[in-house]
Amino acid sequence: MKKCQTLSLAFFLHIVINKKPKHRYIMAKTGTIGVTTENIFPVIKKFLYSDHEIFLRELVSNAIDATQKLRTLSSFGDFKGELGDLQVSVSVDKEAGTLTVSDRGIGMTADDIEKYINQIAFSGAEEFLEKYKNDANAIIGHFGLGFYSAFMVAKKVVINSLSYKEGAEGVRWECDGSPEFSMEASDKKERGTDIVLYIDDENKEFLERARVETLLKKYCRFLPLPVVFGKEQEWKDGAMVDTDRPNIVNITEPAWTKKPADLTEKDYKAFYHELYPGQDDPLFWIHLNVDYPFNLTGILFFPKIKNNIDVTRNRIQLYCNQVYVTDSVEGVVPEFMMLLQGVIDSPDIPLNVSRSYLQSDSAVKKISGYITKKVSARLEELFKADRKEFEQKWDDIKIFIEYGMLTDEKFRDAAMKFDLLRDTDGKYFTIEEYKELIAPAQTDKEGNIVFLYTTDPTAQYNYIKAATDRGYSVLVMDGQLDSHFVGLLEQKIEKSRFVRVDSDVIDNLIAKEDRKAVDLSDVQREILVSVFQSQLPKIDNAQFIVSFEAMKSTDAPVVITQDEYMRRMKEMAALQPGMNFYGMMPDSYSLRVNTENPIVKKVSVAADSALSGFVKPLLDAIAANNDKIKDAESKRTDANAEETKKEIDTLQAENNSDREELSRLAADYAKGEAVIGQLIDLALLANGMLRGEQLAKFIERSTDLLK
Ligand code: ADP
Repeated sequence: MKKCQTLSLAFFLHIVINKKPKHRYIMAKTGTIGVTTENIFPVIKKFLYSDHEIFLRELVSNAIDATQKLRTLSSFGDFKGELGDLQVSVSVDKEAGTLTVSDRGIGMTADDIEKYINQIAFSGAEEFLEKYKNDANAIIGHFGLGFYSAFMVAKKVVINSLSYKEGAEGVRWECDGSPEFSMEASDKKERGTDIVLYIDDENKEFLERARVETLLKKYCRFLPLPVVFGKEQEWKDGAMVDTDRPNIVNITEPAWTKKPADLTEKDYKAFYHELYPGQDDPLFWIHLNVDYPFNLTGILFFPKIKNNIDVTRNRIQLYCNQVYVTDSVEGVVPEFMMLLQGVIDSPDIPLNVSRSYLQSDSAVKKISGYITKKVSARLEELFKADRKEFEQKWDDIKIFIEYGMLTDEKFRDAAMKFDLLRDTDGKYFTIEEYKELIAPAQTDKEGNIVFLYTTDPTAQYNYIKAATDRGYSVLVMDGQLDSHFVGLLEQKIEKSRFVRVDSDVIDNLIAKEDRKAVDLSDVQREILVSVFQSQLPKIDNAQFIVSFEAMKSTDAPVVITQDEYMRRMKEMAALQPGMNFYGMMPDSYSLRVNTENPIVKKVSVAADSALSGFVKPLLDAIAANNDKIKDAESKRTDANAEETKKEIDTLQAENNSDREELSRLAADYAKGEAVIGQLIDLALLANGMLRGEQLAKFIERSTDLLK
């Protein structure tokens, strides 16, 4: 019996709306695509150009479904025949130009084909479209690409099927790319379905063995029934030849489908390497398994990541009942978990939908929340079970945990318990432990606990030593995210302040009540500032301010520090676009002169006696002028405004020239006192800032001093 029928418009819509979201939006929005049922196939091809390859996933998973249905029927006694070999096979015949997917599943009768292939899908689509015509997302979410995706690559598709039902007759359906199909009886003897695709000229690649095998490996690698693609091959006499062993492309029971109790460490690692060949062993893993309120299984691995994380490679793969869907899981797992690897399998994640739709889906939100909870619980468990091992792995997982804490509030709260801090001795502490450790010694007079940290223990060695000499502890914060993370910790730990160990002299960083004051007269101050100022080097993109600190007499005579706030701003600016303002400012340093240091004392006394006779009259003159300026300003009226301005300008000009004179005197004096330049250079050297010409001069001067 031959039956001809024209496919309905709904069929066309069914296909078109099943395309990539972008294209579906176009259609749903404008509704102007002038297509009639006569030319739908060219349109299908045009619409689906980018994702042609998924036809294979659709056909093979249909074959698997049909086979599993038969198995279910058999287990309920509704099918009494022999199940036999239940594998699905894929084959290509280059000469005939065909690709065939065959199964030994339930098969279809002519009525089934009428119902499932010719009718149901379309009328269902029509009804659905009518209901949701104003909601493109709902439409997108409803459909999967089905059997008809075959027409993306084929000019003709033949279904040859024999149903499992008793007395069923074989049936052959054929559709040649026009909107017409034919259906007739066939002499198929074996239960099951063959789907034969006559590959069209533009898609000849799907007749290449290597290409098809790659696709099967991508989409069908973990399907639950064996998928056979030709024979295994081997090298013989300089060529690859078929053996007589079937080439099974998949693993039917991947690790995530098993119970954790049935898996060993070796199994997990082997599965990891199966997923991502050529990687280091994972650090640890989390086996996910939940069936309420949604269904989800999977295994997430913590890879060994250090620098240069490439989040685009080796990503988490999303499966739906063991069928590969995608490796772009944005929305399904929280952003920070993009650094993890592994597999998530859930029939509850809507597929073929837009990202924004996915993110607003409540089931997906629950899934994402669940994964976050599982991951933090597992980390806490590992931390508690074997702290030593956790510490050993810490440097590898630190970036992941910090990223999570910075971007996900729920994770942050959980991770406060197991986030570790490392001090310069290589000891690890939880945040709470560390706080308790340092609180007695490192609480300043305002009651703030001061966390000292270094970003480079070698370069900042001198500053670390100054701190540890006081009995303080210094944290190492040298990770890529640490400059952000420090800010987060400061917010989260009450009454805490985080300061880099070189951001001020140590006794200012942790200021105590009994701090000694700087013991210099105003004149001495002026002289010493001018003397040091005059010998400061010119360094590109850096500026220095001279100040005084009464440190310990044994502390260094001169120390260079960099303001914490400005430095952090610049660091943030470097990581974030749009904060160029800070990025362009020069680095500002303080040159801290230790007035308690005996060398500084000597320098001060000598400068004082050499210069105060000249400097004092200059300072007095400046002070007198300042008084006059104040006086003039207080007497300013509208009437004398101009006169007053003139007077003030003159006084200021005098002051400027006195200042210049003072600087000149100081510079002339300091030039002859090698020790001043030497002290500055030593401080620069300690800070790694002495380079080039300045370094050469320093060496020369040092040599001279030894003479
Ligand atoms: P979906 O699989 O989403 O239902 P398809 O267009 O892929 O949509 O398939 C439509 C229907 O055709 C299936 O639900 C199934 O009943 C039937 N079908 C498709 N392929 C096979 C097959 N290999 N064996 C038996 N039935 C099949």
